[in-house]
Amino acid sequence: MPGRTVRLTGWGRISPSSAELASPATAAAAAKALAQGTAARGMIARGLGRSYNNAAQCGGGVVISTERLNRIVDLDAATGLVTCEAGVSLEQLMVAGLPAGWFVPVSPGTRQVTVGGAIAADVHGKNHHVAGSFTRHVRSFEILLPGGEARTVTEQSDPSLFWATAGGMGLTGLIVRATIQLTPVATSRVRVDTVRTADIDETMAVLAEHDRRHGYTVAWSDSLARGAGLGRSVITSGDFAGPADLSPADARDPFAFRPGARLGVPPGFPPGLINRYTVGLANGAWYRKAPRSRRGEIQTIGTFFHPLDGIRNWNRVYGPGGFRQYQYVVPFGCEAAVRRSFELVSHAHAPSFVTVLKRFGAGDEGLLSFPMAGWTLALDFPARTPGLSGLLGSLDRLVAEAGGRVYLAKDSRVPPDVLAEMYPRLAEFRKLRAELDPAGILASDLSRRLGL
Ligand SMILES: Cc1cc2nc3c(=O)[nH]c(=O)nc-3n(C[C@H](O)[C@H](O)[C@H](O)COP(=O)(O)OP(=O)(O)OC[C@H]3O[C@@H](n4cnc5c(N)ncnc54)[C@H](O)[C@@H]3O)c2cc1C
Repeated sequence: MPGRTVRLTGWGRISPSSAELASPATAAAAAKALAQGTAARGMIARGLGRSYNNAAQCGGGVVISTERLNRIVDLDAATGLVTCEAGVSLEQLMVAGLPAGWFVPVSPGTRQVTVGGAIAADVHGKNHHVAGSFTRHVRSFEILLPGGEARTVTEQSDPSLFWATAGGMGLTGLIVRATIQLTPVATSRVRVDTVRTADIDETMAVLAEHDRRHGYTVAWSDSLARGAGLGRSVITSGDFAGPADLSPADARDPFAFRPGARLGVPPGFPPGLINRYTVGLANGAWYRKAPRSRRGEIQTIGTFFHPLDGIRNWNRVYGPGGFRQYQYVVPFGCEAAVRRSFELVSHAHAPSFVTVLKRFGAGDEGLLSFPMAGWTLALDFPARTPGLSGLLGSLDRLVAEAGGRVYLAKDSRVPPDVLAEMYPRLAEFRKLRAELDPAGILASDLSRRLGL
């Protein structure tokens, strides 16, 4: 399949590389593209490019985009079972499912991710403590192995391929179709409780308490607060509202859902605007504006789940240097490591604009799946932040020593030996990959750097 050469990055806009882009419109055309793969050039799948660094890039090789594999094949309104092509986005599933009362089982902080990308990164959402990660809700998928052979895989028929693909970052094959169990909801609105916490101890205590009461919880933290205010946060927790919770106006259209970005960041947005001073001011103002405690506010799906989707291309605010996301999880019992991570970030004056703390429930079986029971913290920093490399190296050590790990969908710099410490099933994953792809056809910039 002839492709054109394109320069690609992930959402963080760092580490660009050029590859030939193929955009097959059918599974048969995708199989043909894969059959032409060679180890010399390598190939990798790409969805909507929302992973933060280079997991969906293959410099000098071929990137197979699923942008044209974007059809919903079947949606059973009675059972909520949906079968779709892998390039279908979670937003498309919401638009199709909500009128019949079905929502995606797991939603990351953006709905602009594909089903293929959601399985390959085994994504998690604000409901991980009750729902686990995305692949737990996948009943089957069809995957093209390196070479182009098609396989239909369920957890029962081939558990090792199923769980190597969940979180396998596209390295086991190209997913072309999946069947997913959606979640029933009574309306498209969320009933939200908000609590403003004074410090890290209160933040962790309130998160634990809210996890017992709510299906969705998260803390938005002020990463630059220090001293008595270290780890102060605004916690928002919610559950889908019932019809009786809605105002008469909302009740007229209980499943209303109006996606679409409202604002855009202009291409010439001045660089350097995100720095320790502006982020400090913005975090402080936002924290003070939040109510100390508010119960039962009705919010839309967009406001509660995907606030960043309201601004198209918000990643441009970091300027041409881009930004690095860093997300870790450490097991419960390692609360001191969480506190220490907040100290390291605030003492380094590293301006993380979006800082999110959450508790994960039990992890699933994915060999390279990120979540495990414990505390997860996501941070994002302008890539040109002075001293960033040293700070992230210190966080790596802290996390590895606590028995935790960093998230591959966001990683841009963890050393390979540290990654191996963090993912005890990496050797199993590599062995399975060697059997599935002896010629080493599937490869990404991420897999080459880390030897996945
Ligand atoms: C604003 C924002 C918020 C986010 N919040 C969260 C969050 O809360 N939780 C979370 O878990 N993640 C989160 N993410 C990360 C995002 O959910 C994942 O990186 C997801 O994988 C992106 O999907 P994508 O379709 O854009 O895939 P891409 O970024 O294009 O690819 C990601 C990986 O999936 C592989 N892949 C893609 N399609 C296929 C396919 N058809 N077959 C096989 N492999 C495939 C690629 O090879 C690559 O390794 C967030 C990202 C952004 C930008």
